[in-house]
Amino acid sequence: MGKQGLIFAIERCSLHDGPGLRTTVFLKGCPLHCHWCHNPESQSSYPELYFLREKCTLCGSCVKACPNKCHSLSVSNHDINRVLCARCGCCVSACSNSALEIKGNPMGVEDVLAEVEKDHDFYVESGGGMTLSGGEPMMQYEFAAELLKQSKKKGFHNCIETSGFAPKERYLKIRKNVDIFLFDFKESDPERHLKYTGVDNKQILENLFELDRKGSKIILRCPIIPGLNDRKSHLEEIAKLAGKLKNIIEINVMPYHPMGKSKSGRIGKKQPHDSDSFTENEKVEKWIKFIGRRTTIPVKKG
Ligand code: SF4
Ligand code: SF4
Ligand code: SF4
Repeated sequence: MGKQGLIFAIERCSLHDGPGLRTTVFLKGCPLHCHWCHNPESQSSYPELYFLREKCTLCGSCVKACPNKCHSLSVSNHDINRVLCARCGCCVSACSNSALEIKGNPMGVEDVLAEVEKDHDFYVESGGGMTLSGGEPMMQYEFAAELLKQSKKKGFHNCIETSGFAPKERYLKIRKNVDIFLFDFKESDPERHLKYTGVDNKQILENLFELDRKGSKIILRCPIIPGLNDRKSHLEEIAKLAGKLKNIIEINVMPYHPMGKSKSGRIGKKQPHDSDSFTENEKVEKWIKFIGRRTTIPVKKG
C-alpha cells in the first residue's frame, strides 16, 4: 500500500489558495495554536467528531448507536462526552440529518490525486492546480512530499500553504515540487508571536529567508486580527519583510472571520479569540493601502 495521509477536507474550485481555480487538500495536524485559528478542526493529528447542533432534531438514533454511551439528550439539549469517544463513526452512520461527521479520513496519494484530477480542465484554463493546506501540511511530511511529487509528475501546478514551522531540510526537499509557497507571517513581535500562536517565530523566519535564497516563489500570507496584530508597527513590518525577499510575488492580507469560532464549538472546544465580528471591508482596504504605500509588491485581500 502507498503512503496514507489523514485528510479532513478537499475543496474544489477554490479561488483563494493560489493562482487560478484550485483544488485544496486539507491535511490534519498543526504544531501551532493560533488564537484566531480559521480551521480548528485541523489542529489535532487524529480524527475528530464534528457536531452540527443546528441540524440535530434530538431524535436519539446516535444514543442507541454509540457503543461508549457518549451521547446524552434532554428535552432541549444534546451533550457529547468526547473523552469517551473512540471516533468509531457509528453515530455518524446512524444520523439521518447529517448532524455528525468525522473530520479526518485516511486517504492514499492516488485517492487524493484522483480527486484533484477531476478538475484538470479548469486548471488548464485558469492557470490553477493543487494546493496543500491544513493544519500544517508539513506535519504529515512524508505524505505531503509524495503527493507533491506525484502531482508534479502529472504536470499540475502545486502550492503549499504553510505556517513555516517545520524543519528547514524538509522545505528544501519539497521545494522542487512546489511552484509557490503560501507562507504565513502572523506576527512580527517575537513575544506576541509566541503568545498568540504557541511557537517562536525564529525558525519560521529562517525558513522563509532560506526558501527565498534558493529561489522559491513566495506569497506572504498575513492574517490580520483586530485588537491582536492590526497595529501600524506590525503592518509596517510586513512591508519591510517583503522588501527583504527577492522572490516574493504578492502579499495577502487575510482578515479575521469568526467561522473558526463556530467550528471550535463543533469539536467541543473554545477558541481563545472570542469575537463574532467579521472584519469590515473598509478596515481591510485601509490595511491594504497602508502596506501598499510602503512596498512595490502587490498587496491583495487573501
Ligand atoms: S442522530 Fe443526529 S439528529 Fe438524532 S439526536 Fe443524534 S445528532 Fe441529533
Ligand atoms: S464516534 Fe463512536 S464512540 Fe464517538 S460518539 Fe460516535 S459512536 Fe460514540
Ligand atoms: S497555523 Fe493555521 S491551522 Fe495551525 S493553528 Fe494557526 S491558523 Fe490554525
